[in-house]
Amino acid sequence: MRHIAIIGSGPAGYYTAEAAQKQWGDDVRVDIFDMLPVPYGLIRTGVAPDHQSIKGVARRYEATALSENVRFVGNVMVGKDVTVEELQGLYDAVVLATGAPHDRKMDLPGENLPNVYGSAAFVGWYNGHPMFANLDPDLSGDTAVVIGMGNVALDVTRILSKTREEFAGSDIVAHALDVLDTSKLRRIVILGRRGPHQIMMTPKELGELSHLSRAAPRVDPQDLPEVGEDALLEPGLRKSVNHLRSFAAIPASHYGDVPIEIEFDFYASPKAILGDGKVTGVEVERTTVEAGRAVGTGETYVIPAGLVVCCIGYQTSRIPGVPFDDRAGRFPNDEGRILPGLYCVGWARRGPSGTIGTNRPDGFSVIEKIAEDIGAGAGKQGRPGFDALAQARGLDVVTFRDWKKIEAEEEARAREGAPREKFVRVEEMIAARGS
Ligand code: NAP
Repeated sequence: MRHIAIIGSGPAGYYTAEAAQKQWGDDVRVDIFDMLPVPYGLIRTGVAPDHQSIKGVARRYEATALSENVRFVGNVMVGKDVTVEELQGLYDAVVLATGAPHDRKMDLPGENLPNVYGSAAFVGWYNGHPMFANLDPDLSGDTAVVIGMGNVALDVTRILSKTREEFAGSDIVAHALDVLDTSKLRRIVILGRRGPHQIMMTPKELGELSHLSRAAPRVDPQDLPEVGEDALLEPGLRKSVNHLRSFAAIPASHYGDVPIEIEFDFYASPKAILGDGKVTGVEVERTTVEAGRAVGTGETYVIPAGLVVCCIGYQTSRIPGVPFDDRAGRFPNDEGRILPGLYCVGWARRGPSGTIGTNRPDGFSVIEKIAEDIGAGAGKQGRPGFDALAQARGLDVVTFRDWKKIEAEEEARAREGAPREKFVRVEEMIAARGS
């Protein structure tokens, strides 16, 4: 029997568990740990609440979770409640599938001013992550600056733009909906330090900006390269650039009819966040793109703004006792191997890129490596060993069955048309589990 501990119950964690099942059938036991009492990581607290079809992938993870040889061990923080070293003593392989839940820092003056948020915090807020449920952003200013031109910047922009009616069928949490109702935003500026050909936004997500009831995207036609140059782009990016071209063709008169303008500011690199006690603007330097890199021109200007959300990418959490690559913001590894018996997968392995599906081959590949390394297992204790340790430490482990009770409570208290109203505090989750 092989015993595998997976740390993190998001996509990378569950795909790795699925791969272990495929590899060893009934000859493996997998424990999936999560610091929260609820599973699915990024699917629950990262994927936008109005993208329910993407969240539907959780049904696939549930099929894995409900099998006999996979177990959810919620409400246990690895590195605090139990160490990685202890888990290595109990399991043949420990796989870090912890994602990339922290914001990369911009290292700009003013970054810590109130009402300046990283996307992990801001997305966590509207998605009900217990760590960020108290964020309470102030939306009383008329301009927000969203830094970065990736899909997270699009998510944040869209959420800031939608009306309550447009959130029908989503699971955006009530506290966010209430704050969004108070929004006085009239302008959302998306800042990209490079140009239209260097955006990281995918076409489907970018196209959604055309269908917002009270907001319209605006692109300055002068920022667009010659149409012929699009031919060199890979097809997905070319489609995204086509969207930008269609935004640039929207007649100026249209903007008088919509309350919120979503303005793409290309060749614009943030230099400082300005403010005194609260953010008042962003100082930006014009750039040109040379050999694919943004180069400052020395020309600067200020965008007045009452809210700034930095969507420039994420990094993995450090775990005591595990080496960390500061520059890359993830665990140093060789095809998923960190140290003997210790592996990483998904964003914790390769950094925050790709789609949810990208984690599936990742999970299968790490299990191949583990299979090469552990053979038939070393007769470790696995589950019973962890259970004894949890009992000795008085850990309040939340099981998958407990999660199903929490889920049923969340579904029962959903507002009309919504799939669920998430609990946003750990205590509420634990209470919903019942006795
Ligand atoms: P991303 O795709 O890597 O985009 C980050 C953006 O931030 C880039 O435009 C980057 O510009 C910019 N940036 C980085 N450092 C900067 C700095 N110091 N100053 C100014 N701009 C800076 O990251 P993401 O948007 O966080 O997305 C992470 C992953 O999740 C991606 O794979 C994304 O596709 C995925 N995702 C998918 C969906 C979806 O499919 N619906 C939704 C959300 C996220 P440069 O290119 O110039 O570095």
